[in-house]
Amino acid sequence: MSVVDRDDLPAATLYVVSTPIGNLKDITLRAIEVLQHVDLIAAEDTRHTRILLNRYQISTPTTSYFDFNKEKKLPALLEKLKAGQRLALVSDAGTPGISDPGFKLIRACIENDIHVETIPGATALIPAIVMSGLATDRFTFEGFLPVKKGRKTRLEQLRDEPRTMVFYESPHRILRTLKQLLEFLGDRRAVVARELTKKFEQVYRGTLAEFSEQDNLLKLKGEFVVIVEGKGK
Ligand code: SAM
Repeated sequence: MSVVDRDDLPAATLYVVSTPIGNLKDITLRAIEVLQHVDLIAAEDTRHTRILLNRYQISTPTTSYFDFNKEKKLPALLEKLKAGQRLALVSDAGTPGISDPGFKLIRACIENDIHVETIPGATALIPAIVMSGLATDRFTFEGFLPVKKGRKTRLEQLRDEPRTMVFYESPHRILRTLKQLLEFLGDRRAVVARELTKKFEQVYRGTLAEFSEQDNLLKLKGEFVVIVEGKGK
């Protein structure tokens, strides 16, 4: 089904397209149409994105745009946009720019008077905080904590944070992070959301002290969001 023609899409535009975080059905009709009609899709991992494109029979060419080649690739992408091309930017999962490459290209487009449109959709932080049961009226997205330099400073800054805090974490650092959150913030309610929207989705609710004793967390693979309640909540 297509409700827009290619001519309906403004040219010389960067379309920032959200893609699923696990379940391939979590994509909007508009995202499919835009991916079908743009001239080129800049993808974090073209092979990964091809799985999604094949599912929706999208044959648009792709080019890679990831963390380590973004400086090199940026001028060429800007040139294509300036020449009138329509470009879609996607990441491996969720919304580009949210803990993913994208920010630099978006900013460069704005600085070069290139039109930017977002096609909103999946992102891991929103379902995680909604399912947590912790306060959602105000929250702070902390993304990944710094791995080494600046990690302790960031944790110290969060000690008195009254808003709910949302962190992204990789499986091999999850336990260390939960233990450090306990050390710096004291015991609080917390939620670990794993593999959201996927077959083995799990949401664990407890406290930082309880999680810190769960050595079996180290055995769990997959993708994690950690949500911690704010001070005094
Ligand atoms: N751009 C993405 C977004 O909009 O959420 C985030 C990309 S970031 C490189 C990857 C991190 O997002 C993972 O390490 C994990 O913390 C989180 N994440 C992504 N997909 C997830 C899922 N299905 N379940 C839980 N966390 C997920």
